[in-house]
Amino acid sequence: MQMPDRLDDLYRDIILDHYRRPRKQGLLPAPDLQSTGFNPFCGDQVVLTISLDADGRISETGFEGEGCSISQASASMLASHLGGQTIEEAEALVQTFKGVMQGDELTEEEEDALGDIVALQGVREFPIRIKCALLGWTTLQDAIADYRKTQGG
Ligand code: ZN
Repeated sequence: MQMPDRLDDLYRDIILDHYRRPRKQGLLPAPDLQSTGFNPFCGDQVVLTISLDADGRISETGFEGEGCSISQASASMLASHLGGQTIEEAEALVQTFKGVMQGDELTEEEEDALGDIVALQGVREFPIRIKCALLGWTTLQDAIADYRKTQGG
């Protein structure tokens, strides 16, 4: 288990729970958005699939991956958090999370928006693990960029 030792116990438990019992596991058969992300520094991989409903909101997500506990737990948290969001809201969430990894202090609003995902903020104490935590999120960004291209945007 490649898990930093000094992460706060509560955060550790949340992250390990997502690692051991990943949510939203398995790829969707006909997703509207999909992308594959790879973190060569650690060997982590994530494939993310997303379906949209008629209003353009995220209706379902599914992911598969392999790699360290931080990368897979982060992808699980992200995938389980996206339901009901618009693409723009999902992008805003990515920006907030990237800010967290860069050491930004969260407003109460942002903390509420992230929910359990705040458990990952302890990872920023371990710079080598930040790319692991970000993998699912950068994969989501790539998926959105590809989707926009196919929409002619
Ligand atoms: Zn990793």
